[in-house]
This record gives sequence, structure tokens and C-alpha cells, in this order.
Amino acid sequence: MRYSKMLIPTVKEVPADAETTSHKLMIRAGLIRKVASGTYTYLPLGWRCLLKIIAIVREEINRAGAQEIMVPSMQPLELWDQTGRSTDYGPTMFRLEDRHGRMNVLGPTAEEVFTYLAAGEIRSYKQLPVNLYQISPKFRDEFRPRFGVIRAREFIMKDAYSFDADLEGLDRSYRAMYDAYCRIFKRCGLDYVIVEAESGEMGGSGSHQFTVPCESGEDTIVYAEDGSYAANLERAAVDPAAGVSGGSGSLPGSGATQIPPARDVHTPNVGSIEAVCAFLKTRPEDMIKTLIYTAGGDVVAAVVRGDHDVNQEKLTGGLGGVHVELADEAQIFKVTGARVGFAGPVGIADKVSRVIIDYAVAAMAVGVTGANKTDYHTKNVVPGRDFPLAGDNIIVTDLRFATEGDTHNGKKLLFKKGIEVGQVFKLGTKYSKKLGAKFLDEQGAEHLCIMGCYGIGVGRILASAIELGNDENGIVWPISIAPFEVLVTCVNQEDEGVAAAAENVYTQLHNAGVDVLLDDRVMRGGVKFKDADLIGIPVRVTVGKKSLAEGSLEIKLRSEDASQKVPVEEAPGRVIELVKSLKGRLTR
Ligand code: ATP
Ligand code: MG
Repeated sequence: MRYSKMLIPTVKEVPADAETTSHKLMIRAGLIRKVASGTYTYLPLGWRCLLKIIAIVREEINRAGAQEIMVPSMQPLELWDQTGRSTDYGPTMFRLEDRHGRMNVLGPTAEEVFTYLAAGEIRSYKQLPVNLYQISPKFRDEFRPRFGVIRAREFIMKDAYSFDADLEGLDRSYRAMYDAYCRIFKRCGLDYVIVEAESGEMGGSGSHQFTVPCESGEDTIVYAEDGSYAANLERAAVDPAAGVSGGSGSLPGSGATQIPPARDVHTPNVGSIEAVCAFLKTRPEDMIKTLIYTAGGDVVAAVVRGDHDVNQEKLTGGLGGVHVELADEAQIFKVTGARVGFAGPVGIADKVSRVIIDYAVAAMAVGVTGANKTDYHTKNVVPGRDFPLAGDNIIVTDLRFATEGDTHNGKKLLFKKGIEVGQVFKLGTKYSKKLGAKFLDEQGAEHLCIMGCYGIGVGRILASAIELGNDENGIVWPISIAPFEVLVTCVNQEDEGVAAAAENVYTQLHNAGVDVLLDDRVMRGGVKFKDADLIGIPVRVTVGKKSLAEGSLEIKLRSEDASQKVPVEEAPGRVIELVKSLKGRLTR
């Protein structure tokens, strides 16, 4: 390809909404352009990168035994109603009405359609296992689209769905995808970590996320200092505090006798943790926070330390998988008899169906709590003395988000930021049950298909590669997903001899199967070098009047400062070797 014929609109300035390095560089290097909030056009260079990523993904997913198909993005809402996910996805799902008044959705993912397909086509155990996938646009009306293609409203996802006859089969299918993901991210040149994850609204029993650690990531990776454990923040499990054993609600007891009786204090209009701390001159970690939730038809109380946050996934888990939502003001008043901000654990067990107390609260010697009375708090509250830590409807468990410094299996937990590039889930029968995906076994008995699902954000791979590979001058691509492998920069295009020499190197490389771009623009060398650094092609061959007079060309890696002079006739061979060795580093 020739630079002069390509649309590569590099720019100096970036719009104010480009916050992250990858977003800025994708605009500056002319890879993408914004159309509307969270929707982007991929320009020729960006699209070339994306096609290379897609080719790697396709090759590895095929190798793992999955078959590519294509299902419609526009899907009947009815299918989503059948699984209940039209409600679970809520406003994130785009909906549109057709001319006949039928409701459709623009698929944010495709479990429903794939399961519907399986329900229609799979009859016998002989057809299992089967793994089907597609690489297609997905639509999510993200609350806050940002970071360019990282959190977009329309983006390309590879999504695969496995159907097995039994749980052992699911384990095999899951493992095959997990291994394929490792190969994909390695080949794309990404340093990634695999963390345990919650399966969230997907339902199901197990999940891993593939995350690229970097500062601008929106995910928090929680890992043990010795590397023995890694999970995302939604999932990360925390050890019980010293002296508190799991679930039994044993009493810390120590010191309880020295603490004076609990007493109410007037705290007018002081509801938030910060306000109470300021008013009573206490610290958030010395407060006990009580939140009221609805869980199915029940009302439950969740009790955590003032400086901790309830993890709703854990709360749901503690309640045996019941979906929870924060209660509204009226419900809170009904239960506690007080306005929002004054709920407390004393006596609450008699007013709600369950009380779930975090380990850290059970370990407190004393705390300040809401008094279940508007404008009052209670001081000197001793867990176990003033409210029970055991009982029919009381659970002491791991209920909160981990904080840095907590421990897991005795190992200190540390945090780092990351971008989720892919996730794999064991779904079980959630979808096959609701949509009737069944098969007959050898004896003719009917069973539900056991499913797994596996997603990769193709655009996020691109952006993550830029987050990891860049310097002050621009992008530094891994060769496997770079828009081109080699750039031949002709410094004096107006000089016929130099232009012909550049053309000659270009043709030789091209004929040898190297993916090469010739910068044949009539422009100053300085401008060309700036663009070369910005678009970040891994190998640059510079053809200039001066070095040509000495019979040499210059070869330079984008990732290194030094360049090398090579005799003209040797140059193509050397470049081909270099490309081979760079690619070799990114093999599976
Ligand atoms: P997130 O937590 O970041 O919103 P998710 O867990 O909801 O993502 P999945 O449903 O697991 O995403 O989708 C599979 C993959 O699709 C993700 O691992 C991610 O790489 C990609 N993806 C999800 N949402 C977006 C988005 N808004 N823009 C670009 N890629 C996305
Ligand atoms: Mg995910």
C-alpha cells in the first residue's frame, strides 16, 4: 500500500473527551473517528489492526473446535422476556419497535438467540458437544460511554456458546476456550492476568476474566501478594477478621465488659457517615452501617463497618442467590421507624426476615450505629452484647468489597487497575431451561443442554495494546496486530533515484509476503518521521539521498532508538529476518 493513496488523517489536537492514552492516540494516529457518543468509525489503519485481531481470534477459536456462524443483531424482545434478561439488562439494552408494533432489541450479547437455535436444532446426545460463535457488533446503551472504543455503545465482540451433555463436558469446553484465550492474548502481544470473576446477570457457576493491567483500566484486580490468588473486586473474598469464624457468629467478647452501656445521642439531620463522624468526632471505621434491602418478597438488613461497602453480589450469594435491591425511603421507614440514615443493628433482627453481618463488624469491640430513631445515633454499641451475632435469621459472613490490605487465606491483598478484554462463564442450564434446549441421551431420556459462554472485546484488545505500547511520540505496536509490519519511508520523494530505490525495496518486501506500507508522499522527511512514530509500525526502512549515496539504507525498530545502516542490496533480506524474529516472539 502507498501512504499517498490511503486515508491516514493524523492530527495534533485531540478532543477534550479523549482522556486515556489509547483514546488520544487512536484519534491522533487516524485509527478512529467519533460519530456520536460511544460510536466510532474505524478508518483504514484502525480497521487493518482490527482485522488482524479478528483473524487471530478466529484462528484460535476455530482451533479450539468452535464453529463460526452469524446470528441477527436485531432480536425479538420476546426471547429476552423469556429469560428475564429484558429486566436484568434494563436501560443498557437498546429497544426498537418495528412498523407492526413488535418490540426488538439490538443484542448486547446473544445467549438467547444461540440457545433458541440450539433448542430448534439439537435433538440427540450425538450432536453434542457443540460450540458455536460469531464475531459481530454488540449494542449497549452504557451509562457512561468513554475511553473511545473501550466503553462504546456499539462494539465488536467475539461471543461463543458451548452446549454439552454433562458437567464434565462443560469443564472440557470451558478449558478449551480458556486455553484459546491465553493463546489469543499472547499472540496479540498483551500482558494479561486471569482473575476469578462473578457470573453476574449471566447466571451460572463459575467465571474468569482476562484483564490487562494498566492505570486507565476501570476494573480493579485484587491479588494476593504472593500471587496465590487473583479475583476481580466484585468477587474477591476476604478472610474473617481475627477471632471471628465463618458463619457461626461467634462473639468477639473481649473488652465488652469495660464498655459502658449503649446510649442514644441526638444527631439532628446528621445522617451520612461523614456527617456523623464530624458531629460525634469519631472515625468511619468505628461506625456500624446498616442498609435495608428488598430480596424477592422479603426485607433484609446488611450490616457493615462505616468505612466498608456492601458487595451486592456477596449479599445475593449470602441469601442463596436471591436478587437484591436497596429499599426505598418508605420501606426503610416502615422497617426501622426512622428516616434514611438512622438505621441500626440493635433490635433489627425482629423487624426484617434476615440480618447479614459482615465479618469485620463481628470483630469490632464497640461502635456507633444508627438508633432506628430519626435524628438519633447510638454510642457504645457492642456487637454480640447489644445485638446478636447468631440466631435463626442472622448470618455472619463476608459481605463487603475487599479493601487493600485485607487478607485472603492469610495473604495480604493488593489492588491494581485493569481493562477487561475477555470473560468466560460456566452457565449451566439457566438459558437451556428457559428456552427449552434439550437432548435425548442413549436411553432416550431427555436432559437440558449444559452451557458455557465466552466473550472477547475485539476493540478492547486494540486499545489495551496501545495502553501498553506507547511513548511520547506515539504508538508502539506488537507486530502481530500492527496496521503494517514494515514502513518504507522515502525521505526525498521528489528525487527520482531515491523514489526508485524506495519503490524497489517496497516491491521486494511486498513480493516476499511482508505487510508493507510505502510512504511515497511528497513531504519533508521530518513530517514523515513524526507520522511514522505516531502510527507506530514496528520496522521502518528509511531511504534517503545521503545514505543512498553511500550505498546504504537505514533500518530502525519503532521500539528502539538506535538505527542501523545496511547495504542497499542486503536490506530486504535483513528486514524479512527482523519481521520473522519479531513475530516469533508472539507465537503461541
Ligand atoms: P464491563 O464490565 O466492562 O461493562 P462486561 O463484563 O459487561 O464488561 P461482557 O458481557 O463480559 O462485558 O462482554 C464480553 C466482552 O465484551 C468484555 O470482556 C469486553 O471485552 C467487551 N465489552 C463489554 N462491554 C463493552 C463496551 N461497552 N465496549 C467495548 N467492549 C465491551
Ligand atoms: Mg465481563
